Amino acid sequence: MKALIVIDYTNDFVADDGRLTCGEAGQSIESRITELTDSFISNDDYVVFAVDVHDKDDTYHPEYTLFPPHNIRGTTGRKQFGSLNTCYQSSKEKIYWMDKTRYSAFAGTDLELKLRERGISELHLVGVCTDICVLHTAVDGYNKGFKLVIHEDAVQSFNPAGHDWALDHFNNTLGAKVVKANEDPNDS
Ligand code: ZN
Repeated sequence: MKALIVIDYTNDFVADDGRLTCGEAGQSIESRITELTDSFISNDDYVVFAVDVHDKDDTYHPEYTLFPPHNIRGTTGRKQFGSLNTCYQSSKEKIYWMDKTRYSAFAGTDLELKLRERGISELHLVGVCTDICVLHTAVDGYNKGFKLVIHEDAVQSFNPAGHDWALDHFNNTLGAKVVKANEDPNDS
């Protein structure tokens, strides 16, 4: 069994006026992320939207001194970007919306329980940023014994060097399959 984990594809991380945006790089993967989400939903595979959340002026949060405020609870910055939001609005009941407060989708969430309950052993990761939240989720997934598939054409970063480094790391150090459209081992 497999699951798709869509990481942080929100307005604040992707839109032109997002508070911590990847800009055009992030926008370039919109159609592929939406296509993969639609495809997993139509196959009845488990789909998780792992979405960063912050409370306003939370000085205790470690990101407080690292980044400008972003993904504040209740703001449009925390909605999914573009066509993925349309997809979410029409398929809400088939998507597990999971708030997260750290880079990894496993940190402080019930993600592992949800995956184990369903006998899921293979995680497909998409979203932003390749070298931050996707990376930290992949590392935790690896340590917990999940097989990893990273969709190279559905992850992006504001940092091209970090993006490339992370793709190498997924493949060479985490044993992940790094795939593009038509190369997904599960498509055949
Ligand atoms: Zn954050």
